[in-house]
Amino acid sequence: MSRFWSKVVDGLTPYTPGEQVQMPNLVKLNTNENPYGPSPRAIAAMQAAVGDGLRKYSDPSNAGLKDAVARRFGLTREQVFVGNSSDEVLAHTFHALLKHELPLLRPDISYSFYPTYCSLYGIESLELPLNERFEVDVADYHRPCGAIIIANPNAPTGIALPLAQIEALLLAHPDQPVVIDEAYVDFGGESAAALLDRYDNLLVIQTLSKSRSLAGLRVGFALGHPDLIAGLERVKNSFNCYPLGQVQQAGAIAALDDVAYTEQTSQAIIASRTWLTLQMQAMGFDVLPSHANFIFTRHPQRDGAQLAAALRERAILVRHFKSPRIDQFLRISIGTDEECGKLVDALKAILA
Ligand SMILES: *Cc1c(COP(=O)(O)O)cnc(C)c1O
Repeated sequence: MSRFWSKVVDGLTPYTPGEQVQMPNLVKLNTNENPYGPSPRAIAAMQAAVGDGLRKYSDPSNAGLKDAVARRFGLTREQVFVGNSSDEVLAHTFHALLKHELPLLRPDISYSFYPTYCSLYGIESLELPLNERFEVDVADYHRPCGAIIIANPNAPTGIALPLAQIEALLLAHPDQPVVIDEAYVDFGGESAAALLDRYDNLLVIQTLSKSRSLAGLRVGFALGHPDLIAGLERVKNSFNCYPLGQVQQAGAIAALDDVAYTEQTSQAIIASRTWLTLQMQAMGFDVLPSHANFIFTRHPQRDGAQLAAALRERAILVRHFKSPRIDQFLRISIGTDEECGKLVDALKAILA
């Protein structure tokens, strides 16, 4: 506490990101980065955007990028919001759409930025426990509320909810915003974007950080009814009119348009995930069924924190959360086949 801080600052609980350490020969499987590089077309577009044009402010309406997102999903520009990372899009969403008289509903085990935004914006929320299989049970959400947010596939479990269950939520809450955070949807999930024409209470949020391998570029977007999007625009334009630079937008447009590259790299990650899951099971690990670019796994006889520490000694980073219910689990990002192989060899040595 500093005497210069406002009361709000004193009360915050900031999010702790996975560490970004520099180590020689590091196998970095702790922050769900994509092991394959961004689309070469995205790199070329960004190189072409570096020049005298940077003298001017970027387009505050982000028309070019919104149109690229709209093309990709068969929507109009008015149904698209873009931001400097999906974390920023999420922050504006909490601020603009999720604070109401009744509490926001969210799963107890999910993206830990959600409670952080609740504390930042003074939003009352109710944590609903995942069931014993670590799944969201939509029946639990059939209660009065101000809004709902769910990550699908969920993080850090990787478990996906079928679209029919999302639709049940939307039908049960026609007057509440229902936000689906689809950071990992391209690794085998079903996007709720298919439901946008029928539900004006649905907001879908995606990022270019995972399936487009552009975590360092910081681009995310939301899809929804023009009224929801207009609410986000009001908050954005009360905060920063130019959150996305020209280089960022050029790269994002090219990455979104290179559908074949995203498909090919995502399929490679799905194949590695299947291989790694079988290897882990053969070593005695329980692995939750993942539709994401990571697995969530525990060993019935080994302590999660100790396994993470032993891997770290071998220059392999995985994510361990000290939270109740999941403190025996490791979240392991899917790397290249070589990295997955190194992980399996290290675990065999540690378990032996
Ligand atoms: C990675 C992640 C994000 C954040 O993505 P950025 O666009 O990099 O900010 C949002 N939600 C979930 C569930 C994530 O795992």
